[in-house]
Amino acid sequence: MAGKTWIFDLDDTLMPNHHDYSYAQLDFLEWIGEKIYLCEDLRSKAQIDFTRWIIDNIGHRAPDAQSILDLQVRMEGMARRRMDSQEGVLSSSFLCTYNSICKTMGISPDQESHKKLIEMGGIGGYLRPEWDAHSILTRQVEIDSAGAEARGFGKERFPTSVRETYKVIFEDIGLEVNNEDLQHAYNIGMGVFDKVRYEQNGLLSGAEETLDFLISKGDRLVLITKGDLEIQEAKIDANRLEGWFGEDLFVVNKKSEWTMQRLIRGNLNEEDPENMIHVGNSIRSDLYPALNAGIKFGYVPCETWAFERNHGGAPEHQKLFTFDSIDEIIDNYNSL
Ligand SMILES: [Mg+2]
Repeated sequence: MAGKTWIFDLDDTLMPNHHDYSYAQLDFLEWIGEKIYLCEDLRSKAQIDFTRWIIDNIGHRAPDAQSILDLQVRMEGMARRRMDSQEGVLSSSFLCTYNSICKTMGISPDQESHKKLIEMGGIGGYLRPEWDAHSILTRQVEIDSAGAEARGFGKERFPTSVRETYKVIFEDIGLEVNNEDLQHAYNIGMGVFDKVRYEQNGLLSGAEETLDFLISKGDRLVLITKGDLEIQEAKIDANRLEGWFGEDLFVVNKKSEWTMQRLIRGNLNEEDPENMIHVGNSIRSDLYPALNAGIKFGYVPCETWAFERNHGGAPEHQKLFTFDSIDEIIDNYNSL
């Protein structure tokens, strides 16, 4: 019997990616906050530090910056209703947010972290301006998602959304928009594309072992990744992916059932969908294109940002297999 053909997604399936965006967003929030409020918005500053701390400490599986801040703001509202004075509200919201993320991820929160978070939120009285870290980030994500829906996943999309957000907010407040700042905001957005970091970060834990294992079985490995050609090629080079995938590396602007069909029947010249499995982290960008094209799907969930979360959950499907981490493919190989 012929070996299997594995079609892998790249970003957040084989290599970490979504926090590159979170860090750029936090840099932008810090920069624009100082420009608008000259360091007086202590609450936003604490929220930015808190979000950065969560991502640094929890690592790849931590939610993206927007999800962390959304949750923190919800917890803050609940704490404000529960507590008599404003003092301690922010610390309490940081603790509840951290505990809730740990619980979702099945890790245990530690005492040292609790102490740190109480300190981080202990800023006493504070103002809540209309354009605070959370509302600025929410607007940036809206602009970015609209750009992805309209124009796809080119290199310009994210930095352009950061520049546009600066402009929208400055105009709304009545501050003067200048070219130097427009360029600076754009450059912060461009910070997500860093070839040195692609190499430093390497592949996600378990990815190399899984690819090696599949090669040892004599299977065919194919990579299909959506995004800007130059950027995705830089990621492929930095991680020396040709070693596993050979010539079967494809960069597309959009993943759809049609793209998958074209890849399978055209580029790969494969006939038997029973022997093919796509592995990816996204319901919207990976799962549906694969199942609709009639092949199996190995789902390794990693919700990345608002655009990708816009779905109705994973469907029940006999060709769908879900894994907590990519190396579970090794133990389950014979049943796939
Ligand atoms: Mg992905």
